Amino acid sequence: MLQTYRVLSSQAGSSAGGWQRLRFDSGAFHLKGTGELTRALLVLRLCAWPSLVTHGLSLQAWSHRLLGSRLSGALLRASIYGQFVAGETVAEVRNCVRQLKHLGLRPLLAVPTEEEPDSAAKTGEAWYEGNLNAMLRCVDLSRGLLETPGPAGNILMQLKMTALTSTWLCKELTSLVRDPKASLEVSPEKLADAMDSTQDLQISCLNAEQTRHFRASLSRLHRVVQYARTQHVRVLVDAEYTSLNPALSLLVAALAMRWNKEGGPWVWNTYQAYLKDTHERLRRDAEAADRAGLAFGVKLVRGAYLDKERKEARLQGTEDPTQPDYETTNQSYNRCLELMLTHVSRRGPLCHLIVASHNEESVHLATKRMWELGIPLDGPVCFGQLLGMCDHVSLALGQAGYAVYKSIPYGSLEEVIPYLIRRAQENRSVLQGARREQELLGQELRRRLLRRT
Ligand SMILES: Cc1cc2nc3c(=O)[nH]c(=O)nc-3n(C[C@H](O)[C@H](O)[C@H](O)COP(=O)(O)OP(=O)(O)OC[C@H]3O[C@@H](n4cnc5c(N)ncnc54)[C@H](O)[C@@H]3O)c2cc1C
Repeated sequence: MLQTYRVLSSQAGSSAGGWQRLRFDSGAFHLKGTGELTRALLVLRLCAWPSLVTHGLSLQAWSHRLLGSRLSGALLRASIYGQFVAGETVAEVRNCVRQLKHLGLRPLLAVPTEEEPDSAAKTGEAWYEGNLNAMLRCVDLSRGLLETPGPAGNILMQLKMTALTSTWLCKELTSLVRDPKASLEVSPEKLADAMDSTQDLQISCLNAEQTRHFRASLSRLHRVVQYARTQHVRVLVDAEYTSLNPALSLLVAALAMRWNKEGGPWVWNTYQAYLKDTHERLRRDAEAADRAGLAFGVKLVRGAYLDKERKEARLQGTEDPTQPDYETTNQSYNRCLELMLTHVSRRGPLCHLIVASHNEESVHLATKRMWELGIPLDGPVCFGQLLGMCDHVSLALGQAGYAVYKSIPYGSLEEVIPYLIRRAQENRSVLQGARREQELLGQELRRRLLRRT
């Protein structure tokens, strides 16, 4: 199979006629309407305004009081919500995805669950069971959006683990994973066995109620991935904070043992290049998957929680886990990218990667190395950007024949706006750095205006 893949890969590489640096300019905007471009420019300008992002939630509450829910809702729909969210109903999401498909882009649906670690709002199992149902509906929706059946397994969706299990439990598991004596208690093999069995799960540091929650969490994760597998949907697990990530990786490893045996990886982990230890972890995990004969799927990001990670390290008096500056994060991203592309070229469809970045240099590097390594444009490597962000990058990639996914949150205004504001706060540097996108949008709008006069 690997040999066939190599032949196909090299054919795809040469048929592309050599690597060409993509032009991330306003050219691809000809595919979009003037109204859409104007809204994008206005919203990106607004989001680059630091006080608006910092005080977003209070401003929303204030406008709600002053203008009433209808008018303030209409304003949000015409601006931030309209720019970054697919909609609330299935019909709205379908419509958004149809427009994306027309532009050569694919959907990566994300259920926006908005809870800070340790939030008091999360009590009892009901909240997690509600999220489980939302995830199962997301699988159905992702599957249903594939109007014309494409290659099986190119449907992806995102999953936030802390929507299905408590941050408290993740912190406990993280401590166990980090303690060499206790880590055997929670080996991936043991958790993989426990996912759908009724056998006793004994973890010494958990009491009976906590063990029940652990068991229920494992069962929820198992049910989502099991259902996604039957619907040919690949599940990309988000990375969160360093206080939780070792637990999330443990749970992904357990799920991978169950589900990444046939048909490529059905459960992927996310690796954040802004963490100092990421390259080493990625190398270890990729080699372990290879040794175990398991497929391996990776979402490679720079990382969204920089300020919070640093603040937490200062508070705890521990070493800052993040890279010292932007340049070192970029170097780390490039090294991880190289590692993964080499694995893909060696393991073929058993290894999948989504280059989840808006950074033009990272995207150039990925396309160049794909060509050099003979990795096909629409094979196990794809690209990901957020809906409403860096369309000039997504459109250029899509037009050139690469597989490009837009991460799409959906849901009601009440559900999604707090999530969006928090994402905007976390991605402050990206939004402020979206100046180039604003310039390109401005250029294209001026060009259209002059053409009319
Ligand atoms: C499809 C998709 C899925 C995503 N999933 C996740 C996820 O699961 N978990 C997650 O954490 N993030 C996730 N993100 C967000 C991602 O981590 C980045 O925050 C975002 O994409 C910006 O990085 P960039 O490569 O696009 O752009 P760039 O603008 O090139 O990079 C900005 C990033 O560089 C890093 N950085 C900036 N300044 C410094 C500094 N002074 N020191 C060190 N590093 C610095 C930060 O990570 C910052 O976010 C996802 C993004 C996408 C597109």
